[in-house]
Amino acid sequence: MQFDLNRITRKNIQLLKPYSSARDEFSGEAKVFLDANENSLGSPLTKWYNRYPDPHHVQLRNKIAAIKGIAPEHIFLGNGSDECIDLLFRCFSEPGKSNTIICPPTYGMYQVSANINDVAIQEAPLLPDYQLNLAHIEQLVNADTRIIWICSPNNPTGNQISLDDIETVLNNFSGLVVVDEAYINFARRRSLIFLLTDYPNLVILQTLSKAWGLAGLRIGMAFASMAIVEIMNKVKPPYNISEPAQELAIKALDEVGQVNDMISELVEMRKGMAAEFRLMPWVEAVYPSEANFILVKMNQARQMYEFLLEKGIVVRDRSQVALCENCLRITIGTEQENTILVDAMYTWFEQ
Ligand code: PMP
Repeated sequence: MQFDLNRITRKNIQLLKPYSSARDEFSGEAKVFLDANENSLGSPLTKWYNRYPDPHHVQLRNKIAAIKGIAPEHIFLGNGSDECIDLLFRCFSEPGKSNTIICPPTYGMYQVSANINDVAIQEAPLLPDYQLNLAHIEQLVNADTRIIWICSPNNPTGNQISLDDIETVLNNFSGLVVVDEAYINFARRRSLIFLLTDYPNLVILQTLSKAWGLAGLRIGMAFASMAIVEIMNKVKPPYNISEPAQELAIKALDEVGQVNDMISELVEMRKGMAAEFRLMPWVEAVYPSEANFILVKMNQARQMYEFLLEKGIVVRDRSQVALCENCLRITIGTEQENTILVDAMYTWFEQ
């Protein structure tokens, strides 16, 4: 079946007349703005922020477009990629009817957002090498399957998903394929943005929360066809990204060089930490990572997790997650934080 965006767009969303904000109805230069019920006197802050932000994020999207080499019309910006995930369900799934396919172990919000939107979840667990189980995915797809979620590099396993496999899914599925590239800047393979021209059913998610170091700003990006971006824009809350977040992101995006340096440093430290973990007698596996974290399998992972907590060190316990049994997911920290962690782990061993 051919991809048909109308077929998968939720009926009420197709009919939706979007909210028209004051800034939509007039956005040019004027002397006096009395159209948006803002406080014209100012605010308690030195820089006022008494005006609503640009609902279309024009400057920020232009800046991202230049960096990513893609037209701004192909970029949707959300309040974190978590908002993009929720919006994709809201736009392209019928609550109580549609289903979605996720490939666990993977990022937890696909499931939570599906639950919130009353979309049934079908699971095609990754294979033991953490690659897609294509046969299982094929078996699960039915007329009501709207979105397949692929996370690459995958959280929490850290590996990239095979490009051939992703293209197989794109070629054989007539719904949306969302490739979540939150950790792409730490990976060897480049973003799949270049595939957007070939596949109208591809949506790519990225975020400023990871390599860009701006998790506190809440800015997520979806790259997709103009038609998909248009629908998402229709549904998003008008002012979903605050003025300070837009301003600060625009400023930060000038510093590509600094961010590239941080990425190189984190990747180097990732290699160093992987080597450290491999030396530890209680570690059973260190999974190859293309992200800024490492999945480590060890005996007594839960006990190690609790021991580290007592020392004030928090890692992510994934030991109860299928295919991640006895695993901790450990983010690469600063040089000093990494040393504190490694030292603490040896203290546990020696006790
Ligand atoms: N996708 C993946 C794979 C993630 O790991 C995360 C954050 N943990 C997100 C998306 C959400 O990122 P954001 O901060 O942009 O909402």
